Amino acid sequence: MELCLKIKYSWIYNKQFYLDLSIEEFNNKIWNRVLAIGKRFEKLYNKYIDRIVELIPKYSGFDWGECCETFIPIYLVKKPGPSFSDPLTLKVRSDLKLMLVILTHELCHKNMEGVIDDPLLRENVMNLTTKFVFKDLKLNVENQLEKLFQFTEQRFKKHYKPLSIDLSKTSVKQFLTSKGLLEND
Ligand SMILES: [Zn+2]
Repeated sequence: MELCLKIKYSWIYNKQFYLDLSIEEFNNKIWNRVLAIGKRFEKLYNKYIDRIVELIPKYSGFDWGECCETFIPIYLVKKPGPSFSDPLTLKVRSDLKLMLVILTHELCHKNMEGVIDDPLLRENVMNLTTKFVFKDLKLNVENQLEKLFQFTEQRFKKHYKPLSIDLSKTSVKQFLTSKGLLEND
């Protein structure tokens, strides 16, 4: 199934995170930065995004469109708090590689939308899939991956336990099926 991604620059969506700022202040402090970082990000990493889209199903075992819609807008924002997947809202960051790693994590959420109920297992699966995708991409993102894993660790604190599955041998779908976690399969 073909997936269509589109990077979106929505002024009004960004403005919702800063209702207290005047238009002028917002444009100067926030919006111009979204545009500048976004354009740099696209220029450097657009070429990787198609490959990432191909690689996610290889490790997840889920085809695009199996769990989610096949048109995914990616809203670039500058806001407090984390990025999230619905609607796909990606924070602009000065570390563009971290942005790419987080985009991949959020795309994994889309690819496996509604598949995993347990929040920690869900985050672990997305992180692990992201890690395997970047192994194939041969981009050095070791520090950025570490940061991604730390975000999950900080969120779950003492309940955190990393997951180790070799996704090159067992896809997420096969793993979930073997654990009896996939219905209708
Ligand atoms: Zn996540």
